[in-house]
Amino acid sequence: MTTNCLFCKIIAGDIPSNKVYEDKDVFAFHDIHPKAPTHVLVIPKQHIATLTDCDDNALLGALMDRVRHIADDELKLAAGYRVIINVREGGGQEVFHLHAHILGGKKLPF
Ligand code: AMP
Ligand code: ZN
Repeated sequence: MTTNCLFCKIIAGDIPSNKVYEDKDVFAFHDIHPKAPTHVLVIPKQHIATLTDCDDNALLGALMDRVRHIADDELKLAAGYRVIINVREGGGQEVFHLHAHILGGKKLPF
């Protein structure tokens, strides 16, 4: 746990969240400012600041596997969904704990 990290505090339960899914590797919760009818964030429990910083291919594989499980089986986004990872400032990343956005529930514009 990185003490000044918002998402580490959410994983620890020190900041409340609307949890969707949790296992030993990942934690998923609803985004506080949803950009679509369904907007969920999936984060590794291990603190990794950005996609660039992650050299653990097994962890990245597990993250993507859990993203599709959560979207398909937990959220039941049968019509489809979008997965986004913003990387560093130029990519629009605001919280520096690696996370994948799942967006769905409507036809998404480009
Ligand atoms: P990014 O811009 O990719 O770093 O995305 C960070 C996301 O975290 C944004 O979509 C925020 O709305 C979301 N967010 C920030 N604080 C919270 C919070 N306390 N609970 C849930 N989502 C949050
Ligand atoms: Zn963190």
